[in-house]
Amino acid sequence: MRVKKVVMKDFRNYRHETIEFNDGINVIIGENAQGKTNLLEALYLCAALRSFRTRKDSELVNFDASFGYIKMNFESQPMDEEKEKVEMEMVFSADQKKRVKRNGLSQTRISDVMGTFKAVLFSPEDLKIVKDSPAERRQFMDSEMMQVSPKYYHTLLQYQKNVKQRNQLLKKTSFSDEEMMVWELQLAEYGAQLMMQRFYFLKEIEDFAVNIHKQLTEDREQLNLGYEPGIPLSAGWYNASKEVLMDQIMAQLKKNRVSDQMRQTTGKGPHRDDISFQINKMDVRQFGSQGQKRTVVLSLKLAVLEWMKEKAGEYPVLLLDDVTSELDEKRQRDLLDYLKPVQTIITTTHPLPGMAEKGKEGKMIHVEKGKISL
Ligand code: ATP
Ligand code: MG
Repeated sequence: MRVKKVVMKDFRNYRHETIEFNDGINVIIGENAQGKTNLLEALYLCAALRSFRTRKDSELVNFDASFGYIKMNFESQPMDEEKEKVEMEMVFSADQKKRVKRNGLSQTRISDVMGTFKAVLFSPEDLKIVKDSPAERRQFMDSEMMQVSPKYYHTLLQYQKNVKQRNQLLKKTSFSDEEMMVWELQLAEYGAQLMMQRFYFLKEIEDFAVNIHKQLTEDREQLNLGYEPGIPLSAGWYNASKEVLMDQIMAQLKKNRVSDQMRQTTGKGPHRDDISFQINKMDVRQFGSQGQKRTVVLSLKLAVLEWMKEKAGEYPVLLLDDVTSELDEKRQRDLLDYLKPVQTIITTTHPLPGMAEKGKEGKMIHVEKGKISL
C-alpha cells in the first residue's frame, strides 16, 4: 500500500494544500500546533473512515469554512497481483453525514470502502491502550480488525444494536420470555462471532508481537497477550462450534436477567471484553513501568503491521505520530531500520537521528500554520 498524493481543502487548519509522498520514509517536520497530526488524521480517515481524535465531523472542518474535503490517491499491490490505483474522496460538514467517493463513485455504505486503504497508526495517545480502561482495548481490536474485515464491522454494529435493544427491554416494568429471547438469540449469534474473531485476532497478533518485543528489548522481555471474554465461558470454548458458544452465551444472559433488570443494562458480553498484557508473567496494565507500557504498544502496533501484511498480501502504510517524544534515539534508529519495506509517514518537531543517512531515501515535508513546503 502506497499513498501517492493527498489534497486537503478546509480540513482542520489546512485551507488548500497538496502533498505528494515518496514510497519510503516521509518526515513531516514542524513546530507544535502547526498541523502535523492533522495531516496524519486525514490519512487515517481514508483507512478507518473515522478519526482517531474525534467522533464529530464538524471538528474536522476548518473554523472558517462549512465543508472540509480530502482527496487521496494511493496504490495497492498485493503479492502476485497487478497494481491498482485508487482515488478516495471525502466531504465533511457539521450537519450532514460524511460523503465518500471511490474512483469518482459515491459510496452509500461505509463498510464497502472501509479498509480499501490500510494504515496503522502509532501515536503517544496509544499508551491508553495499555493504561486506560478496557474500552480502549476493545477500540484497538475493533479499529484494526475492521480494516481487514468489513464483515467484522458489520457484526459489531449488529451486536451493539442488539445490546441497546435488550437494554431498552430491561427498562420496562415487565416483558415476556419470548420478547427477551428474540434479543438474546441475536446477541448470542453476533456475540459468538465477535468473540471468536477477537480471540483469533489476538492469538495471531501475539505470535508477531512476542518476537518483535524480544527484539525491542534485546531478549529481556517475554510478552504475552490474552483475550479476556466479557462473559464467563467454559475452558477451551474457542475450539467448540459456534452453536456451543451461542448456547453458553444464551445461558449466561438468561441467568443474568434479574441482576441486569435491576441495573437496567446488559452486564456481561463481548461489550465487556478485555485484553491482558504480560511481561515475564507480570501484568503490564497494573505493574508495568511507563517505558514498558510504551514498548508494549509499539510491539503491538508493529505486530498489527505484520498481521495486516499477512491478511492483505501487502504492508499497510505506517503513520508514526511524534515518536521522537516516545522513543529514545537508539529505539528510533532501530525502528527506522525495521521499517525499510514499509511506506512510513513520521511527524516530528526535531530532525530524527539517522535521518541524515536516510536523507537520500527519505522525503522531508515542512508544515507551518497549515502550509506545506518541501
Ligand atoms: P504537536 O507537535 O503539538 O502535536 P501538531 O503539528 O501535531 O502539533 P496539530 O494537532 O496537527 O498540531 O494541529 C493543531 C492545530 O490545528 C491547532 O493550532 C488547532 O487550533 C488547529 N485546528 C484544529 N482543528 C481545527 C479546525 N477545525 N479549524 C482550524 N484549525 C484547527
Ligand atoms: Mg501532534
